[in-house]
Amino acid sequence: MRYSGLRIVAEALRGNSGWAPVWREPKPKPNYDVIIVGGGGHGLSTAYYLASRFGITNVAVVEKGWLGSGNIGRNTTIIRSNYLLPGNEPFYELSLKLWEGLEQDLNYNAMVSQRGILNLNHSDAQRDADARRGNTMRLAGADAELLDRDGVRKLCPFLDFDNARFPIHGGLLQRRAGTVRHDAVAWGYARGADGRGVDIIQNCEVTGFQIKNGRCLGVETTCGAIRASKIAVCAAGSSSRVMALAGMRLPIESHVLQAFVTEGLKPILPGVVTFGAGHFYISQSDKGGLVFGGDIDGYNSYAQRGNLPAVEDVCEGGMAIMPMIGRARLLRMWGGLVDMSMDGSPFIDRTDIEGLYFNGGWCYGGFKATPASGLCYAHLIARNEPHPVATAFRLDRFRRGAMIDERGAGAQPNLH
Ligand SMILES: Cc1cc2nc3c(=O)[nH]c(=O)nc-3n(C[C@H](O)[C@H](O)[C@H](O)COP(=O)(O)OP(=O)(O)OC[C@H]3O[C@@H](n4cnc5c(N)ncnc54)[C@H](O)[C@@H]3O)c2cc1C
Repeated sequence: MRYSGLRIVAEALRGNSGWAPVWREPKPKPNYDVIIVGGGGHGLSTAYYLASRFGITNVAVVEKGWLGSGNIGRNTTIIRSNYLLPGNEPFYELSLKLWEGLEQDLNYNAMVSQRGILNLNHSDAQRDADARRGNTMRLAGADAELLDRDGVRKLCPFLDFDNARFPIHGGLLQRRAGTVRHDAVAWGYARGADGRGVDIIQNCEVTGFQIKNGRCLGVETTCGAIRASKIAVCAAGSSSRVMALAGMRLPIESHVLQAFVTEGLKPILPGVVTFGAGHFYISQSDKGGLVFGGDIDGYNSYAQRGNLPAVEDVCEGGMAIMPMIGRARLLRMWGGLVDMSMDGSPFIDRTDIEGLYFNGGWCYGGFKATPASGLCYAHLIARNEPHPVATAFRLDRFRRGAMIDERGAGAQPNLH
C-alpha cells in the first residue's frame, strides 16, 4: 500500500477502514540467507538496504521484544554530521544525506526536520576547536558556520550568556542537522523491509549461536533453531551479552543514558542546542515538550532504567545554561542502554568466526547513524568487504593502535 495525501483523504471518507497492517507477523522459517539479531533501528535499516540495494530478501530480523523497545524508541532524536576525524565524518555525512531522502525512499513520514544544531563554546580554546571542526566538516562536504556571541544571541536570546563559570563565547552551527521522529524510523524501515519479503520476528530472543569448525551456521532462539549462511548481530546495548554467546569479548561497556521531556510549551527553541561544558543538550518536540539529556549514568548496567544522581546532574546543566527551564514541569523520563566503545566510535565488521558479523559500539550517538549504518552493514554482508566510508570501524583497531578517538578522551567510555 502506497501512502499519500490523497490516500489519507480517501481513508478519512471511509472511516479509516482500508489501512493494512504495516508489517506481517510471520513464523520463522528453518533457513534464511541472512539472520539479523536485533530489531532496533540499525537491524531494520540493514534488512531494508539488504533487500532494496542488494536484492537479498531471504532475511529474518529476530527481535527479543517489540520493534522500538530498545534505543530506537528511547533516544532524543537528534541527527547531525558535525564530526572531526576522517574515520567518522564521511560516514556521518553520508548518513545525513540518507536522512534527507529517507521519507521519499521509504514512502513514510518520519518527521525529518532540519532545524539545525548549535554547539556552544565557552572559551577561546573551545572556539578554536569549533573552527577546526567546522573547517573539517566543510572539507568533507558538510555544512558548518562559526557564530560569534551575537550570532548565538540572535538565535537563542534566552540562554545565560554571562554565567560566571561558562560565559558563552560563540557556537558552531550545522543548519542541516535536526531531529527525526525516532519510532517512525523503526516503523518505516520495518514496513520497507517487510514489503520486500523480509521476515520480522518479534518476541523471539537469540539465546545461542550454532558454531562448528570456526563457522557460524545459525542461531538458537526462544522460537527454536534457525539456520542461515550469514548472521549479523545488531543488538546495541546488549552487544556484549549477545557476542559473549559466541565466546567473544568486546571493547564495549553498557551504561544507561536517560532522557527527559517537559510539558508542552509554545515554540521557544529554534533547533537543538548543546552545552558541551556542562554536558547538557536540548531540543523541542513538535508537540511542544522540551526534550533534553546529558551524561550517562556512571556505572555499568543492562537495565533500561536510570538513577537519580544523573537526573540531578542533567537538571543542573540545564539550569546553568538556560535558567528558564526551571519553570517547566518535567513530564517523563526514561533510560536506554548504550553500548559505549572505548574510543567512542562504532564497529561494523566481520568477526573471526566465519559467517558472523558485528555492528555496535554506537555509544549515545547511534540514532543519527541509523541509515548509513544499515547501508554499510548491508554492503559488508552482501559483498564481504567494508563500504568505503566505514573502513575504519574495525574490531581490531585497538590491537593495531588505530583508535578513532573523536573526543580525544582516550579509552574511557564515561568521557565520550
Ligand atoms: C536516552 C537516549 C538518548 C539518545 N539520544 C540520541 C540522539 O539524540 N541522537 C543519536 O544519534 N543517538 C542517540 N542515542 C543513541 C541511539 O539511540 C543508539 O545508539 C541507537 O538507537 C542504537 O541502535 P539501535 O537502534 O539498533 O538500538 P536498539 O533499538 O536498542 O536495538 C537493539 C535491539 O536488539 C534487541 N536484542 C538485544 N538482545 C537480543 C537478543 N538476544 N535476541 C534478539 N534481540 C535482541 C533489543 O531488544 C533491541 O531492540 C540515544 C540513546 C539513549 C538511550
